[in-house]
Amino acid sequence: MQDAHSASRRRRRPYRKRTTRACTARASPGGRLVPVADIEGVLLDIDGVLAVSWEPIPGAARTVTWLRNQGIPFRLVTNTTTHTAADLADVLSGAGIVVEPWEIITAVVGTASYLRRHHPGARCYLLTDGNALEDLEGVHLVEPDAEEASVVVLGGACDEFSYSNVNRAFRMLMDGASLIAMHKNLFWRTSAGWELDGGAYVRALEEAADVRATVCGKPSAPFFEAALGMLGIGAERVCMVGDDIVNDVVGAQELGLTGVLVRTGKFRPEDLEKGAPDLAIDSIADLPALLGAA
Ligand SMILES: [Mg+2]
Repeated sequence: MQDAHSASRRRRRPYRKRTTRACTARASPGGRLVPVADIEGVLLDIDGVLAVSWEPIPGAARTVTWLRNQGIPFRLVTNTTTHTAADLADVLSGAGIVVEPWEIITAVVGTASYLRRHHPGARCYLLTDGNALEDLEGVHLVEPDAEEASVVVLGGACDEFSYSNVNRAFRMLMDGASLIAMHKNLFWRTSAGWELDGGAYVRALEEAADVRATVCGKPSAPFFEAALGMLGIGAERVCMVGDDIVNDVVGAQELGLTGVLVRTGKFRPEDLEKGAPDLAIDSIADLPALLGAA
């Protein structure tokens, strides 16, 4: 009954593009004039945009519901490697932000998409944290003690990044394997303190084996290309909403998306020295007004 009602509402109130004049906004000095009326799809970062430490940001649930009711296609995009898309959907839905696993694109999902497209059937040696297997469907992983693979894939760092395993990856690269990084994050901070992340190992292997990694998470082109492919909408008609000026906003802009910065999460005013968002809003709660009610 609920589904039928929602579907009916979507049919009655389809998303309509507004006039360019009514929906044009200038974000910040240096930002370009953006015709918001041209936006037909939305990518939303999770951490710092929808939630902080899995506590929902006020207005986040309402905005996701609004996008759904308006029939505006959207995906949640995140560099996390510790949670599967299904786990994230559970956690977010439990916090009131109701989403389905297929609506979430993690760095693992983006990496799997890239591997299927560019290394179909290749033998892949994987080092990462979390339970990545569920989101690596269609990727041929070799055993942890394998001595040979044609692709080395690194995700978030964990105890599996032992000398023995990292050296195993190094030998594979020296024998000609390609290096794929889910992201190049160098470190992060938890309640236990600073934590070294997978990007530090990626850099070390790049230097030692004289190779360059292909990065599959944000802000890489393959990640945003995978997200656009799942939305089925061209870059010029999609906006990326994030709190990270480099990984979310600039990365998306480089591929032709509209970069929308939210002033929540990790945002700091000095971030604006690293890039110029096309649009900026105080929080995700303001997105409906920006897209639909301008
Ligand atoms: Mg974020």
